[in-house]
Order: sequence, then C-alpha cells, then structure tokens
Amino acid sequence: MKLLIARPMTAAVETRARSEFDVEIRDDTQPLSTEEMLRALTEFDVIVPTLGDQFSAQVFAQAPDLRCKLLANFGVGYNHIDVQAALASGVAVSNTPGAVTDATADIAMTLLLCTARRAGEGERLVRAGRWQGWHPTQMLGHHVTGKRVGIVGMGRIGQAIARRCHFGFGMRVAYQSRQPKTVEFPAEYIPNLKSLASTVDFLVLAVPGGSETHHLIDADVLGAMPPSGILINIARGEVIDESTLIAALRDGRIAGAGLDVYEFEPSVPLALREMENVTLLPHLGTATEEVRTSMGHMALDNVAAFVDGRPLPNPV
Ligand code: NAP
Repeated sequence: MKLLIARPMTAAVETRARSEFDVEIRDDTQPLSTEEMLRALTEFDVIVPTLGDQFSAQVFAQAPDLRCKLLANFGVGYNHIDVQAALASGVAVSNTPGAVTDATADIAMTLLLCTARRAGEGERLVRAGRWQGWHPTQMLGHHVTGKRVGIVGMGRIGQAIARRCHFGFGMRVAYQSRQPKTVEFPAEYIPNLKSLASTVDFLVLAVPGGSETHHLIDADVLGAMPPSGILINIARGEVIDESTLIAALRDGRIAGAGLDVYEFEPSVPLALREMENVTLLPHLGTATEEVRTSMGHMALDNVAAFVDGRPLPNPV
C-alpha cells in the first residue's frame, strides 16, 4: 500500500506515518498541481490531501488508470474535493471532524474581540510609535459582553462559538442552520438568514464551503445587517461575496469584519488590507501543534482502517 501525504506534517504525524506505512511525504507547502494530482491518483493507493488540492471532476476524468482508493483529507472542510466525482471513480473520501472544533471556535472569538475592540488597529498604533496616551474618547470600540450574536451554521464549530459567547461573554445567541438544534443554553433559531442578520450585533459564519453556501453572504444579507454590525468568517472565503463585502465596509453599511479565510486565498484584496476596521488572519483556525497533530492522527486512522479493510471512522 503506497501512501502520499500532500504536505509536510508535524513531527509526531510524520513519525507515525513512516513507521506504519510505505509513505512519500511531499516537501512542498503549496497545493498540488494538476500534474501532481494525476500522478498521485495513478501511483498511490491512498492520498492525504488538504486545503487547496482541487480534486475536481475534471481531474478524476483525466486520470487514466486510477490506483487510488481513498482520499483521507486532512481537515474537516472538503469543498476542494468533488466528492460525487471521487465516489463515482471508486475513490472514498474521509475527513477529520471534531479535532478542529475548539481551536477554530477560539479563532472566531479572537476575530470577534479584535474587531470589536479595535485590537489590531491599536497594536499597529503602538508599534508605529504613534500612541499619544490614554484619554476618555480614545479609540472607542464596540462593547461585546451581553450583545447579540448570530451564528450561521450551528454545527460542531458553530455550537462551540455559541457556547463561548453565552457562557464566556453573557451574549444572547441566535442562529441559522438547516435544522434547529438542541443545545444546553438559550439559543433562538431564526431560519431566515436576512432576518437573523437584521437582529444581531455580530454575525459569525461557520457553514461548510461548496456550491450550496457559495456567496451565501451577499448584498441582501449585508444590507440587512445594522450599520453597527460586525461580520466574522472562519468558514470558507467563498461563503462571502468578497467584493460586495468590501463595498459594504467602504460605505459604512456595516461597522467591521474579522476574516480568517478569503474568497481567492491566499490573495487578500488591497482594499481589505487598507481598512483599519477589519481584522485579517492567515487561515489560522486550526493552527496549533496539538490540533494539527490530532488532525494528522485522525487522517492516518482513516488510512489504517482502509489498509485493514475496516470501515472508515470518518467517511464523508
Ligand atoms: P459541521 O458540524 O458539519 O457544521 C456545519 C453546519 O453548517 C451545520 O449546522 C449545518 O446545518 C450548517 N449548514 C450546512 N449547509 C448549510 C446551508 N446551506 N445553510 C445553512 N447552514 C448550513 O461542520 P464543522 O465541523 O462545524 O465545520 C464547519 C466548517 O468550518 C467546515 O466545513 C470548514 O469549511 C470550516 N472550518 C474552517 C477552519 C479554519 O481554519 N478557519 C477550521 C475548521 C473548519 P445542519 O446541521 O442543520 O445540517
């Protein structure tokens, strides 16, 4: 069984992979090119791909003799893989849910707090040596405690964010998802996204990417938000129509945004980079040693199950 891991991993994950499998670990941190994906599909039994590796229907159609039987994705989000096309080609897909939940919720709170309290702007001010000292109306931001948060996508990560907002910050929680949820704290289900957007101080996105959620946040939803509203995105960049977001921020139709992901990642529009009222992170959601190691182990657990002929622990 030949395994390809598409990126360098943490030392613990690479050590396990080398001890358990006949593995090639790619040395490059950039996504696989089409040629590399075609080679991988024809020369390896299992691939551990990740964000940016665009396993599209076209790629599966181009691969002449498929050897690959499993894409054990590193990450919970798998919108870069055309799952229907993979399954139709006899390639199973698995992912790494759960391992990422708390770390990603923590980054959502980082973005929410930084944007509301102008922490990025303040940090830049101090570092530039331009801070003139405290005064009663210096850099007034938005109060967070007790405010109303709207979660779009009340799944594992959405609920972890809501929990932090409720128990940590006394916030009132409302949410939208395809189905109402049973949770251990008060949370109002508002199935209509515009209605949700119009009643909250913070709108936090935690849905999967893909065609169903592409540009879910468009001019209508942004227009429904109050001018004091702040948008937070830890989901996938293409969930927001980015140019419409830029226009809404520029025109003061919303107060700010905190973004971990971008529509054309890793390209971040200059317009966003020039705005003081946005917090911009380089897709840090799961970026801790512990979490990346857990994700790697989870991906390898799926590989091991495949090798042993057992059911995959995390099929998608
Ligand atoms: P999850 O447990 O599957 O939750 C997804 C939620 O989105 C579910 O509540 C689902 O609703 C809802 N949803 C799906 N499609 C929807 C739609 N069209 N409209 C409204 N709601 C919809 O997934 P998760 O583990 O929380 O992860 C969520 C996403 O976060 C991942 O797919 C990934 O893209 C992203 N993520 C980002 C980072 C980062 O580094 N920034 C890290 C990890 C994950 P129902 O439950 O009602 O079906």
